[in-house]
Amino acid sequence: MTFDPIDSLCSADFVKVEHLRALQLIRLQKIVRHAYDNVALFRSRMDERGVKPEHIKTLKDIALLPFFKKIDLRDTYPFGLFAVPQSKIVRLHASSGTTGKPIVVAYTQQDLDIWSEVMGRALAGAGLTRNDIIQVAYGYGLFTGGLGAHAGVEKIGATVVPASVGNTQRQVMLMRDFGVNGICCTPSYFLHLIEQANAAGIDMRELPIRVGIFGAEPWSQGMREQLESGGGIEAFDIYGLSEIIGPGVAVECTEHAGMHVFEDHFYPEIIDPDTGEVLPDGEFGELVLTTLSKYAMPMIRYRTRDLTRIITEPCKCGRTIRRIDRISARSDDMFIIRGVNVFPSQIESALLTVEGVTANYLIILTTENGMDNIELNVEVNENSFSDQVRELEALQKRIAAAVESVIGLRIRIKLVAPKTIARSEGKAKRVIDNRIK
Ligand code: ADP
Ligand code: ZN
Repeated sequence: MTFDPIDSLCSADFVKVEHLRALQLIRLQKIVRHAYDNVALFRSRMDERGVKPEHIKTLKDIALLPFFKKIDLRDTYPFGLFAVPQSKIVRLHASSGTTGKPIVVAYTQQDLDIWSEVMGRALAGAGLTRNDIIQVAYGYGLFTGGLGAHAGVEKIGATVVPASVGNTQRQVMLMRDFGVNGICCTPSYFLHLIEQANAAGIDMRELPIRVGIFGAEPWSQGMREQLESGGGIEAFDIYGLSEIIGPGVAVECTEHAGMHVFEDHFYPEIIDPDTGEVLPDGEFGELVLTTLSKYAMPMIRYRTRDLTRIITEPCKCGRTIRRIDRISARSDDMFIIRGVNVFPSQIESALLTVEGVTANYLIILTTENGMDNIELNVEVNENSFSDQVRELEALQKRIAAAVESVIGLRIRIKLVAPKTIARSEGKAKRVIDNRIK
């Protein structure tokens, strides 16, 4: 892995596809052998199926291997899936536990080197170089976001400002005083930074910042427009999860046409979430990832519960590694209301087509007279807020109609004053479920 010193692009993203496939196969064979020899749960699942590591002769043979799920990490908590002795483990992280009890993941020094490499490739692909100053406003600590992004900034030789989350006014001041060029944080937090900058009389668009690397939560095209126009930046979607490595599994290039998966390290498949059957490239389903070169805690065919598709057409940027589409939803986030399956991301994308609203919203589920009820609280922007009641009612109707056109349900819309919905510093909380179970 080498970074070009001029523009810091990485040669590994542009290798010939045949070479990439050959490399993936060798790595897959090695990691399967390693997991089989060192992880009891993996070995017993392989044995149940009568599959041995030597049965992996082509990349397609990956379909012989058993799946792993988050529950397997919980069942073996804390160290049951580790595949190296503790003396080789140099770092532990734990997932933020958005959907339940935290899980713990481990890294060898080599695993950390790979992580900083892929994060470096992500930042370089967004046009950041050693000449830039990059603020990392993901949480530092057990969450993988902060330290993961941090290592990537150092990898490309840029200057890191390890701001972590919180103290938003100070973050804005640092951005201005240091002349920060790039930022890594959740998209919802960047929105908050724009707002706080405005409150302090600072127009983010006039600062040197030009690139935002946003991930850890789903965000829509409408959100992109708000981030880019409010911040005067180019926004890049980055995807990752603790179980696989952390941020840096996949990222957009400057074409913004899906996220390139660093598939020399993370092998992607899409399956039908109901049957587990592997779907052809291009079809939507659940993303399954295999870590090809992570040794402390190899993850074989890990079911991410994230829904997307693989894009095989070559990207205009020239990278040969495949892309995945924007993560349209996380299956855990789905809720069922009056028999209809709804994802918060669908509501967001509908909402943000309407003029006069902000990307701050909250979905509240309740039980009324024994029936499920859903209310969407939406913050209006300052301009709409000063409108007459009649205009606000019309806005409410436009939102209801936009949402109905996407989810097929007419839901109650409550308009709330600017800055009244709680801001998040990490992953935004979009749904409050107060239904009586
Ligand atoms: P937790 O499971 O506790 O949220 P992580 O911090 O590891 O733990 O979060 C990983 C999850 O965050 C992913 O599985 C995915 O659902 C979500 N995520 C991360 N990046 C993105 C992104 N760019 N777009 C949509 N969802 C994302
Ligand atoms: Zn590209």
